[in-house]
Amino acid sequence: MITLKEALTLSSAEIKAFREELKSKIEEKKELNAYIGMEESGEGIPVLIKDNIQVKDWSVTGGSKILQGYISPYDASVITNLKAKGLSPFGRANMDEFAMGSTTESSYYGKTLNPVNTDCVPGGSSGGSAAAVAGGIAIAALGSDTGGSIRQPAAFCGIVGMKPTYGRVSRYGLGAYASSLDQIGPLTQNVEDAAILYDMISGYDPKDSTSVDMDYTPVSENLKPERKLRIAVLPHFLNDASEAIQKAYTSTIETLKAQGHEIVEAKLLDAKYDISAYYVTATAEASTNLARYDGIRYGTREQGDNLKETFIKSRSVGFGEEVKRRILLGNFVLSSGYYDAYYVKAQKVRRLIKQNFEKVFESADLILSPVAPNTAPKIGELENPMTMYLSDMYTISINLAGLPALSLPVGKSDDGMPVGLQLIAPAFDEQTLFDGALGLENALK
Ligand code: GLN
Repeated sequence: MITLKEALTLSSAEIKAFREELKSKIEEKKELNAYIGMEESGEGIPVLIKDNIQVKDWSVTGGSKILQGYISPYDASVITNLKAKGLSPFGRANMDEFAMGSTTESSYYGKTLNPVNTDCVPGGSSGGSAAAVAGGIAIAALGSDTGGSIRQPAAFCGIVGMKPTYGRVSRYGLGAYASSLDQIGPLTQNVEDAAILYDMISGYDPKDSTSVDMDYTPVSENLKPERKLRIAVLPHFLNDASEAIQKAYTSTIETLKAQGHEIVEAKLLDAKYDISAYYVTATAEASTNLARYDGIRYGTREQGDNLKETFIKSRSVGFGEEVKRRILLGNFVLSSGYYDAYYVKAQKVRRLIKQNFEKVFESADLILSPVAPNTAPKIGELENPMTMYLSDMYTISINLAGLPALSLPVGKSDDGMPVGLQLIAPAFDEQTLFDGALGLENALK
């Protein structure tokens, strides 16, 4: 598959031919179920879009039955930006329903398979985006990351996935899961493509009140892979990781040392606090955000005898099991009797997590961390919700702290599954993140 950088040099006739070729490849690899739908807009370089990002006149479902029949009346700001750069939204990527999940098994439109081994999940929730890029049926894709949903599927499929600093990329037109955690970001074949796509979607947007109004210097034009950095490693964090992950971590540290980086040891808060704070915060916000799906305003309606019954019926039929579980959990932690004990406490823990990262960054430019405790699990293996939540232990603190992070492939397990590790940077220092990641990618070639 051509890279995004290469695609940007093609003539419009070449792009046209490429799009036709791509369509037949997608057809050949239908069994992956990476695409929910084949909508197209424009004639430019095709980029796959996760199905929770608004593209005007497209059916957009968020992987849910409740949005069946909904046609988007507008473009998300990231889509407006892509179109302005000659890129065209091309296809809707499968995902866990409303981005809740770590395997893409909760999509109403069926599971996506991992192209490296079709017995395994591609990760989630941006599993369709990752599987398509890794499977050679998309040049690049957009995903969303609330607690790891770009980085973890990228790691499971052996590609690059990047979550920007909170506030860097507009959320206008992103179907909200947990608004204080969500960010849109790129899934690509390599680090440079990630930088290019990231540049295209980044920058201040007055339509998003949490978008940060600061000067934006494009990172892809200033990449310096030769920079020597101080990189913090987290030895205490590895106990819960599988042997394959531990081995890859150790050998990556050696690679970084050989490149001339300085390695420093650091410690973050125990991951059990991350998981609790995240699942309280994310479900609380989700329960409020999903209140808008009532059968009246969008998509699927199940008519009842009165308005209340219509709400109840539409939501009962329209939402899947995992989404319902989170709505219940979110309402519980926000209810007046439990608000202080759960929601308020989670916000305090969140602050501690953020402060802890800031402390580490006093003596380091980047942090090297696992992305997941294991390589891609088999389909059905993470059926127990608690097991699935625990598998997010390495990614969610980054969203709680609002930091940028990039996951890149560093090796393979004995059974041939990709291993990804992530680099984490201080807020708004995406330049250092991409410099470090490109340096590591080059060293591993
Ligand atoms: N797996 C996490 C969750 O289910 C993260 C999902 C995401 O980043 N969208 O909430």
